[in-house]
Amino acid sequence: MNTIIIGSGPAGYTAAIYAARADLKPIIYTGLEPGGQLTTTTEVDNFPGYPAGVDGPTMMNELKEQAERFGTEVKIDFISKVNFSKDKGGIHKLYNQNGDEIISKTVIISTGASAKYLGLPSEQRLIGGGVSACAVCDGFFYKNQDVAIVGGGDTAIEEATYLAKICSNVTMLVRKDHFRASKAMQNRLSNFDNIKVLFNHEVEEVMGENVVDGLRIKNNINNDNSELKITGLFLAIGHSPNTDIFKGLVEMDDSGYIITDKISTKTNIPGVFAAGDVQDKDYRQAITAAGTGCMAALDAERYLQEI
Ligand code: NDP
Repeated sequence: MNTIIIGSGPAGYTAAIYAARADLKPIIYTGLEPGGQLTTTTEVDNFPGYPAGVDGPTMMNELKEQAERFGTEVKIDFISKVNFSKDKGGIHKLYNQNGDEIISKTVIISTGASAKYLGLPSEQRLIGGGVSACAVCDGFFYKNQDVAIVGGGDTAIEEATYLAKICSNVTMLVRKDHFRASKAMQNRLSNFDNIKVLFNHEVEEVMGENVVDGLRIKNNINNDNSELKITGLFLAIGHSPNTDIFKGLVEMDDSGYIITDKISTKTNIPGVFAAGDVQDKDYRQAITAAGTGCMAALDAERYLQEI
């Protein structure tokens, strides 16, 4: 086998399109969530080439069909374990959910990242019905409405300011009495008089039958409960890269994101490349993931020519 791609988001499928067109006969293992994070979004309006927008699952299906058109084999299966060779030209071993061994000269890791959620049953039930973990993806649907965002890091502030340009009012719920975000990011808040920050506040319950119509929140100092009338709840409490099976095998940063060499997709293991959110905690967009997927296939192709 020349190229195995692990993960089927925009990075994985774009890598597959390029690898298949280069005749590398790639096999893509979709993982547990075929299509990745975009299958949990509704409308995607910011992917170039879709002037009328496209819903996430449709876009991922089209990417899959495009990859298959050039001979990509798509396996609805997940890789549970890997054993990477440290030698240039070495054979990498992967194991699927049944423990079957798969060997390949190159591997593209595009297992993505998962947004963290609070874990409240009411929040989980309303994902896609007003609960979102991506302001850039979904903020537009709450134009001129009141929304809330949970989190006190750089992402929360960045997304709050993004939402403030679209929505009427944005309430930030920060569980501590201070932000985790940098001072520079905090300073941005002073440019917006429609962002209100509630420190020491946590979400108790997301209200609404099929769509969000409010929040029950708690002041964690005096335990007072109150209600907030909003139609959109955004979570910005961090992401976790899906890298558990690669721990100790591929170089990662402290948060578990795979480290790639300069502007390439090369990991510290020869023949193993990483693309998409699994190696990117800053941009995290479908289009940037697709871009690095393309790069990974080109890097794999060049590597195969060298060995
Ligand atoms: P962070 O981990 O930095 O911040 C997460 C925030 O969410 C913290 O305020 C944390 O609170 C809060 N939080 C976590 N869990 C819960 C919970 N269960 N309930 C309520 N609040 C919770 O994640 P970010 O996504 O903000 O940032 C990730 C990385 O990306 C950082 O290194 C950041 O600097 C970087 N980044 C940089 C940007 C830029 O420079 N333009 C933009 C965006 C991200 P607590 O503090 O209490 O733990």
